[in-house]
Amino acid sequence: MLASDSVRNASSERFNLLNADRVSLEKLFSAQGEKPFRARQVFSRLHKNGGCNNELAACLQDLPAATRARFSELVHIDELPLATVIPASDGVYKLLFSVGAGQQIEAVIIPEAQRITLCISSQVGCALACKFCLTGKQGFARNLTTAEIVAQLRVANRFLQSQGSTSGISNIVMMGMGEPLLNADAVLPALRLFTDTAAYALTPRRVTVSTAGVVPAMARLAADVPVSLAVSLHAPTNALRDEIMPVNRKYPLASLMTACQQHIINRPRAYVTFEYVMLDGVNDSPACARDLVRLLHGIRCKVNLIPFNPFSGASYQCSSPATIQEFRSRLLQSGVMTTIRKTRGDDILAACGQLAGDVHARTMGLAGRAGQSESPIVRHSPQ
Ligand code: SAH
Repeated sequence: MLASDSVRNASSERFNLLNADRVSLEKLFSAQGEKPFRARQVFSRLHKNGGCNNELAACLQDLPAATRARFSELVHIDELPLATVIPASDGVYKLLFSVGAGQQIEAVIIPEAQRITLCISSQVGCALACKFCLTGKQGFARNLTTAEIVAQLRVANRFLQSQGSTSGISNIVMMGMGEPLLNADAVLPALRLFTDTAAYALTPRRVTVSTAGVVPAMARLAADVPVSLAVSLHAPTNALRDEIMPVNRKYPLASLMTACQQHIINRPRAYVTFEYVMLDGVNDSPACARDLVRLLHGIRCKVNLIPFNPFSGASYQCSSPATIQEFRSRLLQSGVMTTIRKTRGDDILAACGQLAGDVHARTMGLAGRAGQSESPIVRHSPQ
């Protein structure tokens, strides 16, 4: 069993095929004395055209009988179970998945005119404790496995099909629960699967990883898969960012901006999207707009202003529509391409920052601790 196999399957001796990208499946096969093309046959059966309905025998059907018999003992297909689907009034669907120990994570399907976007979770909860984020308020339970991340796409595609949709998911944003770059070991293979032409064949540009700024893992991402990068910036100065995003105390703006430059340096058409949540009276002043323009000078980028989505117990309010428009105009006037994100799914708490799932936190996040410790504060022992 590979170390990355699912926590849920820890008791199973069999390897969950959904945890393997193409190269690791080839390694698994060669460890068994099999040729790489055998691995590739299983790989496309598993990921193409509905994935054989998760029937192991059908996925292994191209193998010679003896190999098939052996692999049936070694591997299995374990897909994250879909617990509930909640439709919003604007066409958005929230999918709730059971991840064991009574916990749930969420993915969101966002249909638009020309595309269907899936917002995917990477962790159960989040350790970063950004002050304006509901997931951040919940604390952290555990990382998702590659299989659990990929399952969100598989299940979403099957759900769309069951609704009569002729198209599947065309875009992925890793903007659900969790910080993808604090779970790079599972997220990077999942990104390879999303973009592998022998698997889900999504255009890398249409797959976006959003990070709060985990600088060392940004370099890993840039070297690994050429997906789009979004950075949750939310403040133009270290003083303000330290306050609302504790991760900034560990990876301050100068290091973050360098990592952003590195991501696009060898990709002349790529740009970084900076997300900026509009918090009334906190980061929406003309001075903030001016500082932001200065900070972004020389970086090929786009700014996406996100109206703050409220949740119960939040200590912020959204900036007024007029303030958001004015902030945008100031950026535009300085030559910074800026859009305002349309909020979708807020009636079912499916909008940015509202994903809660059902998390039993083992740790309560970085607040007040970043820069001092690698591991977040442990409040109570694992379930
Ligand atoms: N941890 C990653 C992925 C989360 S993406 C990251 O921080 O980028 C979710 C996006 O929604 C992030 O930009 C996040 O900062 C933003 N967000 C969080 N809470 C929000 C809220 N209440 N309203 C609007 N956007 C929010």
